[in-house]
Amino acid sequence: MSAAQGGCLCGAIRYEVSNQPAKVTMCHCRFCQRATGSAYMVQPAFDASDFALIAGHPKIYTHVSEGSGKEIFINFCNTCGTKVFQTFERFAGSVGVYRGTLDDPNWLKVTPDNSKHIFLAVAQNETLVPAHTPVFKEHAAQNDGTPIAPMVFDTPQKRGDLTS
Ligand SMILES: [Zn+2]
Ligand SMILES: [Zn+2]
Repeated sequence: MSAAQGGCLCGAIRYEVSNQPAKVTMCHCRFCQRATGSAYMVQPAFDASDFALIAGHPKIYTHVSEGSGKEIFINFCNTCGTKVFQTFERFAGSVGVYRGTLDDPNWLKVTPDNSKHIFLAVAQNETLVPAHTPVFKEHAAQNDGTPIAPMVFDTPQKRGDLTS
């Protein structure tokens, strides 16, 4: 059992997670690039029962995913603008936290077994993807849930060097 807390920049919104997440997704899609204003989103996905809001009232922006047509609910601080976590129409029962909001982001255990990189096809050219970790050009599964086979590299790869 392992617990951690996190929150927004101004401290109005605070949460606690009572366990490590089931999986960690590094998403390079344009939605995540734009929403984070950064290279990609690192999103641990917690069971909703392991996640508790302990302070504050997030404002919610609802975004319809271009890929699935399903709604994504971005929970952010109305004071400081920090995006803290998101929930999903497609994955009810799961809470995706923005890793950088953890008080100790390195509390999170990220291994080749529990993590993956998705949407490499639109990743920024300088982005490195690690060796031995599943990498997908787009989603890891089709809309009906059928898994898609990953790429796995023996050495770290820079997206801009990958031709396929
Ligand atoms: Zn705040
Ligand atoms: Zn994304």
